[in-house]
Amino acid sequence: MSAVSLWSRWASLEKRLRKAPRLALFLDYDGTLAPLADHPSQAKIPAEVKRLLARLSRRPGVWVALVSGRALRDLKAMVGLKNLCYVGNHGLELQGPKLSYLNPAAEAARPLMKRLARELREALAPIRGAWVEDKGLTLTVHHRLVRPEDGVAVKNAFYGAAAPHQKKVEVRVTAGQSVFELRPPVRWTKGTIVRWILARQAALLGEGQVLPIYLGDDLTDEDAFQALGPEGLTVAVGESAAWTQAQYTLRDTASVKRLLEKILDLRRG
Ligand SMILES: [Mg+2]
Repeated sequence: MSAVSLWSRWASLEKRLRKAPRLALFLDYDGTLAPLADHPSQAKIPAEVKRLLARLSRRPGVWVALVSGRALRDLKAMVGLKNLCYVGNHGLELQGPKLSYLNPAAEAARPLMKRLARELREALAPIRGAWVEDKGLTLTVHHRLVRPEDGVAVKNAFYGAAAPHQKKVEVRVTAGQSVFELRPPVRWTKGTIVRWILARQAALLGEGQVLPIYLGDDLTDEDAFQALGPEGLTVAVGESAAWTQAQYTLRDTASVKRLLEKILDLRRG
């Protein structure tokens, strides 16, 4: 089944959003709440969207989590709101009101990540536009600004450093939009952490009390779309509609903001 525009199904979705006893709103950060930028430090969440999140998180029966590939500390610093749950490094770390998690395999791989970050910084130094982001539990090589003719060199440098450790199952390699990533060798994704959170909420509130809603724009969000399936309301943001496993699509961050406004309105109490 291919995804359809969320607004084309709004009449029935509106009913579902209004009637659900509780909403668990999972939101990716980059490309979903904050427009993409050349450098992650420039991808700021618009002030109006931040206010919307603050208001949503204070609504009774609405719970809000930000789910990002960024390091937890970085994500918290970019948003700076209390009362939200923050999920960093694609689910490997989490902090929120009355909730916290740190993946043990990721914690164990931390020293290797540090070493590989240093190695990759050296290997990529000659390539203009490529840079390494050390995210503690994972690391990311950004190549959005690399000239097309240097693309192969970036790939070679990355796999040159990663391959020996990948072979020994010490790291896992993933690729996203203009990034290569190294992660600890554990099958733990945005989908796993979403299920982990929902299991805890079900234990606390009872089954069937929470309607999970997940909005994301990247490959890594597909894990969450798949993990939720028809039980949730899944929305792919951006141009990825052709291959997404989400049920619905929204065009851009401005449409996401419009949806958040509507949810706030629907859950007036
Ligand atoms: Mg994103």
